[in-house]
Amino acid sequence: MKKIYEGKAKEVYETENKDEYIIKYKDTATAGNGEKKEDFEGKGALNLKITTIIFEMLEKANIKTHYIETLSDSEMKVKKVEILPLEVIVRNISAGSFAKRYGVDEGIVFENPTFELSYKNDDLGDPLMCEDHAIALGLITKKEYDYIKEETLKINSLLKEFFININLKLVDFKIEFGKDKDGNIILADEISPDTCRLWDKDTNEKLDKDIFRRNLGSLTKGYEEVLKRMQK
Ligand code: UDP
Repeated sequence: MKKIYEGKAKEVYETENKDEYIIKYKDTATAGNGEKKEDFEGKGALNLKITTIIFEMLEKANIKTHYIETLSDSEMKVKKVEILPLEVIVRNISAGSFAKRYGVDEGIVFENPTFELSYKNDDLGDPLMCEDHAIALGLITKKEYDYIKEETLKINSLLKEFFININLKLVDFKIEFGKDKDGNIILADEISPDTCRLWDKDTNEKLDKDIFRRNLGSLTKGYEEVLKRMQK
């Protein structure tokens, strides 16, 4: 297999099938645009298992994703897409960069979820990007923006319900979309505790990458707890 891309947490390989990729999940965790970096044995396998369960749940609910099948502890077969250079973020509760930007506490429960975009560009530090700017730069059309927003809010509703059923609050998350060979926009990348904030419903214990970002304990123990609850 030919590696065509290596990111901070995943590698992408071409396969004999020109319409498919294989994604390898790595054990590396990074934070602060790669400034903090460490390997945690088993993290890749945990994120792959968690993403698999979530993508299968979303597919059942008629959300189109790049997921085809999970092949091993580290490999997922996916549809080939061209990833849009946008991070799509939904927030249900204030935390992270939102709390910092507006100087407010973490934990404010919003009446309605917020929808935001960041421009995926490490050199610029993934700056916040509004709808008009994404369209002006030709990254997406107005129609595509509307579709992504509608689909993302549907995904948020499904994920929120899924997690609250296992006693986890979905605080916020980041997803990425890609374009397939026919120009359809579909959900891609991963959905895991690397890309979601998940707090225990009763204690607000953090069970996501903030454990690593803020040195709160064992990252893999947190992720194992999330997976355990999902498998019950
Ligand atoms: N997020 C992500 N990748 C990024 C930036 C954010 O997966 O490059 C996720 C993050 O884990 C959180 C949500 O998106 O669940 C919102 O992150 P935020 O903007 O608060 O940024 P952070 O505090 O991670 O810098």
